[in-house]
Amino acid sequence: MRIDGIEKYKEVGLKLTPQRLAILKFLEGNKEHPSADEIYKAVSKKFPTMSFATVYNTLESLRRHGQVVELNFDPYKKRFDPNPKPHHHVICVRCQKILDIQNEFSLKPPQIESEEFEIIGNHIEFYGICSKCKNESGA
Ligand code: ZN
Ligand code: MN
Repeated sequence: MRIDGIEKYKEVGLKLTPQRLAILKFLEGNKEHPSADEIYKAVSKKFPTMSFATVYNTLESLRRHGQVVELNFDPYKKRFDPNPKPHHHVICVRCQKILDIQNEFSLKPPQIESEEFEIIGNHIEFYGICSKCKNESGA
């Protein structure tokens, strides 16, 4: 998250309110890839007057300005990533834990690149079972 001052915050086009600042602080450096609901629950502990709409609208503005990335692997629960730099993910199919994978992959899909598309990026989702879930199943 590259928002560290009021000036940068203004660039995103939002008024600086304590609620929104709390959302940004919660997201800064957060590696959990939280859903809007999880963000709402965490931040409303400090700000009981916080509405879900404030969380949602703030996330939407940040997303539009490239400050957070929306992850759509789960159609029932969008997750948000405050790290906008290109990276990949590994997702636990049991508990939906998401970890970042920073390795750079050299990927060249056959055919496509030279024809209709110029490839400008990629995002790989690996699926697996995290160590915690593996231990719980006794495997
Ligand atoms: Zn798991
Ligand atoms: Mn990530």
